[in-house]
Amino acid sequence: MDAQRLAAAKEELERLRQEVLREVRATGDASRHLDTDDVPDLGDMSTRSYDRDVLYNLSEVQRQKIRDIDTALELLEQGDYGICVRCGEEISPKRLEVRPFSRYCIECKTEVERFGE
Ligand SMILES: [Zn+2]
Repeated sequence: MDAQRLAAAKEELERLRQEVLREVRATGDASRHLDTDDVPDLGDMSTRSYDRDVLYNLSEVQRQKIRDIDTALELLEQGDYGICVRCGEEISPKRLEVRPFSRYCIECKTEVERFGE
């Protein structure tokens, strides 16, 4: 992978990271609001706990995304960016464009999803 492409990938990863952090902050505000609005009303409780689950899941997804981005940035520093961590083959540039924090090539990704890591 050439230097220009690596620089572009780094920029994109840092932009994505900022984006997720902004989302996390927005979610944090929303959950604080829910906590202060803790009225013991049974009829309302199931809806509220559902909201909380959604928020919890959302932030879990965001945490995972940050981890993926950080890993990609680390690989970039080491010069291993764009290489599948499972089989060592190059990840297709098209795939990296869509998902710059991909750690697996498309073949491995499919297998990992089906059979686990
Ligand atoms: Zn692979």
